[in-house]
Amino acid sequence: MKKLIFASVLLSSAAFANLHLAPPDFDSKFGRSVFVDFKQADYSVTYDIQNQVTTVKSKIIFEATKKGKPLFDLIPDVTEIKIDGREAIAHEISFPGGVSTLRQVNVEVLPGTHTLEVENTIDTNVIYNEDFETVSSAFWIRDLKDRMFLEQYIPSNFEFDQYKMTFNINFEGIDQADQEFYTNGKITKISPLSWKIEFPEYFTVSCPFYHLTPKGFMRRIDFNYRSISGRDIPVTVYSPWRKRTKKFAPEAARVLKELEADYGPWAHPGLVAYGTIKGTGGMEHSGATATSFGALDHEMLHSYFAKGVMPANGDSGWIDEAIASWRDKGYQRNPSTGFTGSNLGAHSPYKRNTDDRAYALGAAFMSYLDYRLQDRGGLKAFLRGYVQTYKHQVITTEHFKNNLEFFSGINFDSEFGTYIWGKNTKDTKHFHGANPNHPKLTKEFLRSLL
Ligand SMILES: [Zn+2]
Repeated sequence: MKKLIFASVLLSSAAFANLHLAPPDFDSKFGRSVFVDFKQADYSVTYDIQNQVTTVKSKIIFEATKKGKPLFDLIPDVTEIKIDGREAIAHEISFPGGVSTLRQVNVEVLPGTHTLEVENTIDTNVIYNEDFETVSSAFWIRDLKDRMFLEQYIPSNFEFDQYKMTFNINFEGIDQADQEFYTNGKITKISPLSWKIEFPEYFTVSCPFYHLTPKGFMRRIDFNYRSISGRDIPVTVYSPWRKRTKKFAPEAARVLKELEADYGPWAHPGLVAYGTIKGTGGMEHSGATATSFGALDHEMLHSYFAKGVMPANGDSGWIDEAIASWRDKGYQRNPSTGFTGSNLGAHSPYKRNTDDRAYALGAAFMSYLDYRLQDRGGLKAFLRGYVQTYKHQVITTEHFKNNLEFFSGINFDSEFGTYIWGKNTKDTKHFHGANPNHPKLTKEFLRSLL
């Protein structure tokens, strides 16, 4: 029995050893930089209500497979950093080609398991209310802009990696925290001033949903939705207005029904949907979303494509926006893509955000694939099998193409070579512009959603 348990532990950690999906290691002016595999990240977030300061102490266990200086990311200033108990510095450096910025620890590590400890403060998307001794805070993310995942708040790895995250939330300077949490993690109250939120080990840096509000600030509805798997899915919809929340509840159930019929059982413990202001689009998390009413269906589709199977990098991000937009446009089938070519999936391997032409060009490409697969049940038949087979796994464009070819028996070298890994198309003027489901939002607006 012991042996069996040991084997399954090995298997489960091996399942998320995703270093083969990391971009290539590189040399910076500070030395050889190596991507590492986060195994576990514990984040202790303390809200000091009297002094209105939010601090994070993080402890990350990671594995290096090569000698070099470990890479991670964190936008706020680092107050303190230690590696294996020794004081260190985290330089801010550029990826090759200057496509993005990240952090490199100035200590060379050998292959093996190491501990990274980091302290920082959070100013982004946190508001203290002095009169009521409460705080509003959220870890909003975006995927169309660079460096907008969890690295805005806490030390994080890149999208290729999956690791167990735990948030230990503490309040100081008050006797009792009158707060409410909305999250896609498992929450446990530890004391009147502390809570623990555990996220599944398959989560990436763009999966957690975390929104802290003063108690009673939001109008919430909780109900169970009976999945086609027979499981009861706990659903929470909430917004500042009772009327808006009431509108979200039946729509969430309607979309769950549609998506389960098309793509199989919902692959998340539950669904949390925060209803935001009309016309402002939304952002997808894993079985969770902050979204306007009009984009709720689009964001829930992303719980299959984006957060059911998850992109490994910016060059794979086009897939989920293409599928979501193809659905938004009524699953069109078209014998031609209508454009001459694109490099949607052929930017730098270090690119972290999605090419925003994925909505238009990507959706047109999906319409074309659907045409080519019409004798094989259409593209939806492939997508259903794909998402159910690889759910909770990180995928790339190559992986998607290989499976599409295996399913269909059709070679798509030339189509992907032209439309995804090709040259920029000349006739895409009308394919530019923000998508209504993910418009560009200001920092002030994101803060106003607290
Ligand atoms: Zn989208």
